[in-house]
Amino acid sequence: MNTRPTPPIEFSTDIDEITDRFQTNTTEISSEFVAGLNKICPSSTELADRVEHSRDWWPLAMHWSLNAQTARRADVICRPTTTKHVSEVVALCSKNSVPVTVSGGRSGVCGAAIPLFGGVVIDMTSLAGIINVDEISGLVEVLPGTFGPDLENVLREKYRLSVGHFPQSFDISTVGGWVGSRGAGQFSTRYGKIDDMVAGLEVVLADSSVILTGTEPAGAAGPNLTSLFIGSEGSLGIITKVWLRAHPIAPAQRRAAYMFGSFAAAVEAMRVSIRSGATPAVLRLYDERESKRAHGGDGSQCALLVLDEGEPLLIDAMMQVVDNACRANDAQPADVTLVEHWMSHRNDTSGLQVLSKKGFVIDTMEVAVVWSRVNQVAESVKKAIMAVSGARSASCHISHSYIDGACIYFTFVAEPTTNTLAEIESTYEAIWNAAQNSALDAGANLSHHHGVGINRAKFIKRALGPAHNVLSALKSALDPKDILNPGKFGITSSRGEVTTKR
Ligand SMILES: Cc1cc2nc3c(=O)[nH]c(=O)nc-3n(C[C@H](O)[C@H](O)[C@H](O)COP(=O)(O)OP(=O)(O)OC[C@H]3O[C@@H](n4cnc5c(N)ncnc54)[C@H](O)[C@@H]3O)c2cc1C
Repeated sequence: MNTRPTPPIEFSTDIDEITDRFQTNTTEISSEFVAGLNKICPSSTELADRVEHSRDWWPLAMHWSLNAQTARRADVICRPTTTKHVSEVVALCSKNSVPVTVSGGRSGVCGAAIPLFGGVVIDMTSLAGIINVDEISGLVEVLPGTFGPDLENVLREKYRLSVGHFPQSFDISTVGGWVGSRGAGQFSTRYGKIDDMVAGLEVVLADSSVILTGTEPAGAAGPNLTSLFIGSEGSLGIITKVWLRAHPIAPAQRRAAYMFGSFAAAVEAMRVSIRSGATPAVLRLYDERESKRAHGGDGSQCALLVLDEGEPLLIDAMMQVVDNACRANDAQPADVTLVEHWMSHRNDTSGLQVLSKKGFVIDTMEVAVVWSRVNQVAESVKKAIMAVSGARSASCHISHSYIDGACIYFTFVAEPTTNTLAEIESTYEAIWNAAQNSALDAGANLSHHHGVGINRAKFIKRALGPAHNVLSALKSALDPKDILNPGKFGITSSRGEVTTKR
């Protein structure tokens, strides 16, 4: 059982030599305040704890760790074990106007769980476990600090059920983080994004009240309040319980692989398959560069991996629909061991650290776009990345498909000429600016499943347009004292400016 977040990378120095990357105003934290927190639930002011809870798996922050910096130190870490604890911690923070940032596995890759203004971090990983399972309806009531394997293993072994949410970070992320950042698992084409899996939520609001957003299969009592908190990144409320939809364990699985002469032909085969009603759990298309890297070959072909699971009658039909679409687009069937190879390596998260330690700038950027613009976005983003000085490679794969479009997942690597932090940062920033603006120009959205965090906050006004005012208004209405994860979503905080130490 995983009970604690997994640190992204080691620090280059002793804990007491680490400094904060972000410089922001601090809120006075008195010893009485800390004593008050300790009366509610175990709370820590240990330096190592504060430093560790101030970073996540944001690749840029890994370079900071390698340069004796953490993003922004928290002042106190609280570990609640009940909703009442969370509500009381929030009440105390509200009374003292202390920022409170909630974190799960801290596997986020955009800095969403970093407490930009310090204050309290609520580490939810002690609020973990399955509370109840309605086996007839397949509804699972689970606490937010539950890590992926601890949810799925119990569901599978005890109830023969599966939620079907398998992000690459499955082992190191929690249910609350999945919902908070609106994630997607690798089997999403069959089971949907987390948005589709959540039936209801229990949420502690900034005024410490506790609300339920409804757990029925569907509703029409006004707007869907559950979805208000999905993807809210700890800025609108703290999720203390989640009701997830689960499926019977699939009795059978089918796998297939194809090679295409071009990316566009493979995209067309995917589009036709999906628009014909096929929903294979996995439909993953790699561009030429990623196909060569992951599956061999001469770099002129694109590999499509297909996997489906469920009732044999249904999945045989799905596989046939996909096969027809692939053959109609001149695909050659490929060795099915390509799928097996991907399955056995798909949760490996070690590459990031290896390359970062060598001084490379590496990251991924995922966006969603309608089918009619998939090829254009794939081409223009890769071109924009490669135009940045120091860029060494830009590649992509399509990881999730929908009736109207797909998610394109880009990976870039750059090699700054000097291995200084300043150049690493400027290269990182230049590539993100080029890639994200090019994706938005070509009609893609801001993010498909990694969320916004700190890294993407500068693009959110452009991406949402006037709708950003609605997000700001919601934040002000639900959190008038700006205590919940302040300074995020491109919403100016009354707590002041955020500057970075150079
Ligand atoms: C190698 C790697 C691969 C990844 N692959 C995927 C992938 O395939 N799919 C995917 O979707 N993501 C992926 N991610 C990103 C990340 O794992 C997800 O965003 C994940 O959902 C974060 O969960 P967490 O528990 O680590 O949350 P954290 O990082 O701790 O928090 C993420 C956000 O959610 C908020 N939050 C956490 N708990 C709560 C709560 N109880 N109430 C309200 N808000 C809360 C936090 O404040 C923060 O804003 C990957 C990350 C890594 C490092």
